[in-house]
Amino acid sequence: MNTPLLEVDGLKKHFPLRGGWLRRVTGQLRAVDGVSFRLQAGRTLGLVGESGCGKSTLGRAILRLQEPTAGRVLLEGRDITAMTPAALLAARRRMQIIFQDPYASLNPRRTVGQAIREPLDVHRIGTPVERDARVLELLDTVGLSARVRHRYPHEFSGGQRQRVGIARALALEPALIVADEPVSALDVSVQGQVLNLVARLQRERGIAFLFISHDLAVIQHVSDAVAVMYLGRIVEYGPAALLYREPQHPYTQALLSAVPMPDPARRRRRIVLPGEVPSPVASPAGCAFHPRCPRARALCRQERPELRSLPGGDPGSQVACHFPGPG
Ligand code: SF4
Repeated sequence: MNTPLLEVDGLKKHFPLRGGWLRRVTGQLRAVDGVSFRLQAGRTLGLVGESGCGKSTLGRAILRLQEPTAGRVLLEGRDITAMTPAALLAARRRMQIIFQDPYASLNPRRTVGQAIREPLDVHRIGTPVERDARVLELLDTVGLSARVRHRYPHEFSGGQRQRVGIARALALEPALIVADEPVSALDVSVQGQVLNLVARLQRERGIAFLFISHDLAVIQHVSDAVAVMYLGRIVEYGPAALLYREPQHPYTQALLSAVPMPDPARRRRRIVLPGEVPSPVASPAGCAFHPRCPRARALCRQERPELRSLPGGDPGSQVACHFPGPG
């Protein structure tokens, strides 16, 4: 197998909690708690889980927009986590992010042409004339007219703003884009257009995407492989088609049971999980999912299951469960 574009190894991001007069550390919020995976060039990994499971923090820790607490991130074989600020700035050319709310990530006082050009200015790529030409090319790539470059973000619809966000992310020709809930704030009709644009960019430009979403239907649309997160850890990982067809982890099965299926023959029995996702400050002992799991037994309360391939199962699939199997 080729060297992966991205290797994430035991990545953790903990936030210390402070209290009392002396602001002493009283606990840790374990937002990401030991995540490992690999992503090949030109592929899309969908990262899915309920709100608060740590998926957005994971995306930011991979890019070092938030400093990881432990673990390694290798991009094209180079350790991002060990880089100096200057080396990291250079490496950022190869990895970009698309945010959920493009409006918040765009400066309201700068035209969209200036916003798209900014990464080229920061990295001093090309002459000013070449940068302007590149802005026009990028607008065309994301389906926006050259005329709009003089307009301001507030003059755009949500879908158009997300296209601007994508054009800006493409400016430096990255190898990896972390797309953090990029369509969650958009109308369903516009979501499809943006997802098709992402799929086309992956196909035509060979960009790898880490596509983060709470919506399994959205993830299915764009992903080659899927990682399901629960309380800061991956609980199931595998090729998208197989994971959707034969999920092995009770949590994945519950999430999938809530996805509307147009074909009545393929509709799943709805599994309603009791309770809420526990706080990442006080994660349950053993399997963190055991208080909500319909399949939990004594072992689940005592021993944390590691992510592993199943004997005789698909070698590319892994599940963290003592008692995996079809629901
Ligand atoms: Fe459920 Fe036990 Fe599997 Fe955890 S290890 S998901 S509690 S069956």
